[in-house]
Amino acid sequence: MHRVTIVGSGFAALAALQELRRASPDLEITVVSPSPEFVYLPGLIWIPSGRRRAEDLRIPLGRFFARHGVRHLTARATGLRHGGRTLDTSEGPVNNDGLIIASGGRFLKHLPGIEQVITPCEGIAAAERIRERLATLEQGSIAVGFAGNPKEPTAMRGGPMFEFILGLDTQLREEGRRERFRLVFFSPAPQPGNRLGPRAVERLFAEMRRRGIETHIGHKLKGFSEREVLTEGGNVAADLILFMPGMTGDAWFDATELPRSLGGLLLADARGRLNAEGVERVYVAGDSGSYPGPDWMPKQAHMARLQGIAAARNLLAECAGEMPSTTFKPELLCIVDTNREGMLVLRTERLHLALPRSRFFHWLKRGFEWLHLQRYR
Ligand SMILES: Cc1cc2nc3c(=O)[nH]c(=O)nc-3n(C[C@H](O)[C@H](O)[C@H](O)COP(=O)(O)OP(=O)(O)OC[C@H]3O[C@@H](n4cnc5c(N)ncnc54)[C@H](O)[C@@H]3O)c2cc1C
Repeated sequence: MHRVTIVGSGFAALAALQELRRASPDLEITVVSPSPEFVYLPGLIWIPSGRRRAEDLRIPLGRFFARHGVRHLTARATGLRHGGRTLDTSEGPVNNDGLIIASGGRFLKHLPGIEQVITPCEGIAAAERIRERLATLEQGSIAVGFAGNPKEPTAMRGGPMFEFILGLDTQLREEGRRERFRLVFFSPAPQPGNRLGPRAVERLFAEMRRRGIETHIGHKLKGFSEREVLTEGGNVAADLILFMPGMTGDAWFDATELPRSLGGLLLADARGRLNAEGVERVYVAGDSGSYPGPDWMPKQAHMARLQGIAAARNLLAECAGEMPSTTFKPELLCIVDTNREGMLVLRTERLHLALPRSRFFHWLKRGFEWLHLQRYR
């Protein structure tokens, strides 16, 4: 094997790339993504308060690719043919001997009125819109919530929405205008955030109560109007709505024969391999995939990196005629940040920690950010 194509330039893709290059200096690696840059998504929570600007979180990858001897094609994947050997892209076909798909996830946008809300996790522009809207609001209600993918419990990401609402509370206090705002957290789940574990959820809700953040949970969402979150248990008035819908697979997967999970993600085995008739040496890593494992397996950067490394090792093993045998341990590791403090949550098959908020964890989260950004500069 001499040509590997990686789709995406996020956490999973870059971890796979580094592992491929480490193990195989002569490999021809092509990365296909819409832009030769890395966006540090966990830092979006600091954009509304101005703690971060777009340019702090958007890292051009030209030097990183040159250092690793990688070709970048500025394009979007659009389909797949010949059992995985030809990736169709917006700039034409790219042939490979092995493929790793790491193009992230997409949000379900079927609720009526969804265009009224900001989905902050869609990227820098969305987070900037929050900052702009906040600046224009003198007073009012802000509703922040998330939902899952009913067909796939793991295809959701709630942690950042806790961070957004706690961060907004901190920001409004710092700006001396918290008393003019009502903050409401909403979710259709009776126990939102339970993948973080019961202790973490207890702490998060205690923290919201302590800050006077109201909750509206356990009621099925009906949709959104310009100034309301509509639920079966009544409506929540809101001048600004931040909402993270459940996740599903990228639209371009529909143009492939790749195996899909019920929730629409790429259905992988424990090694990240996509098993379907006629499909060979195709792996998935990160948010694009659905993997066997506990129902709390997170859609997180740390997990995406572990999956990227496993996919790279397995692809190389398969091409060397060996059995792919590298698996990844499910590990949920996150710091739920409030702009000034953080709560550390760690969940593995053996351990479950949910440590109380402290300044130290806020600084630790900033340290992780620095390390990641250094790695790709
Ligand atoms: C606000 C926020 C806060 C978060 N906080 C944390 C945290 O504190 N800790 C943590 O561990 N995780 C956190 N996460 C989750 C983490 O960022 C994701 O799980 C992680 O980015 C997933 O990595 P990925 O490589 O699978 O996908 P992504 O990082 O989404 O990368 C996908 C890549 O694919 C590219 N792409 C998309 N479509 C195509 C296409 N058709 N063709 C080619 N390329 C394509 C994209 O441009 C991008 O380069 C947070 C996420 C958000 C949004």
